[in-house]
Amino acid sequence: MRTPIIAGNWKMYKTVADTVKYVKEFRVMVKDIADVEIVLAPPFTAVHAAAEAARNSNVIIAAQDCYWEREGAFTGQVSAQMVREAGAEYVIIGHSERRTLFGETDTGVNQKTIAAFAAGLTPIVCIGETLDQRDRNETMDVLDRQISKGLEGLTGEQLTLLVIAYEPVWAIGTGRTATPAQAGEAHTHIRGRLRQWFGADAADKCHVIYGGSVKPENAKDLVGQADVDGALVGGASLDIRAFFDIVSKSRPGTV
Ligand code: PEP
Repeated sequence: MRTPIIAGNWKMYKTVADTVKYVKEFRVMVKDIADVEIVLAPPFTAVHAAAEAARNSNVIIAAQDCYWEREGAFTGQVSAQMVREAGAEYVIIGHSERRTLFGETDTGVNQKTIAAFAAGLTPIVCIGETLDQRDRNETMDVLDRQISKGLEGLTGEQLTLLVIAYEPVWAIGTGRTATPAQAGEAHTHIRGRLRQWFGADAADKCHVIYGGSVKPENAKDLVGQADVDGALVGGASLDIRAFFDIVSKSRPGTV
């Protein structure tokens, strides 16, 4: 049985002060929820403050990216070790905004994922097709490529810890959501490939979560799909009440 993971990706929103206020309030709201893993990913600048505000609670902090080198002359980059030291336990890697706006490749995703594990972080690796690719019936090929290249060289043991976020690019920030059937189909395909490439035991333990305009109104139907182990939530996670509702609706007894 995989514990559902609900992760909020704040993108480039919220100051340090906003973050601390949110986390302090949110930790009280979710204090009795032990059956969902709750993750929040503020911008880099607020990771440390968020981790301090979440200390000894069931809210876990993530970074939104990391670089694969440990240290060096890489202006503007932040290493996996640095975000771990700042208090992050998870890190989002290969988000579609990073891929489309900042030229991130599957090779870079692979290097970052390996670096994240080496630093003791749990990677949330994002994959997903564009609308053109879906219309051309290439969805499963795109997912296969992103998985095989992005996860190259990982061990089965690492896969048991990994989180994959299936995020159809056409559903991110657009208000357009994959139907539960579309999400279910992609997740079942991903799990099948993981079984083939990493073995049944590792594949059964790996979390595959859905992302793309998840809201309180659709969370239950999406997370209720077989093989959907939670959600990566962008816009709706900025609103504390909406995010709390999504977490509540994803509890195993309610889906
Ligand atoms: C995301 O940023 O990963 C995301 C899924 O965004 P949204 O929920 O706003 O579509």
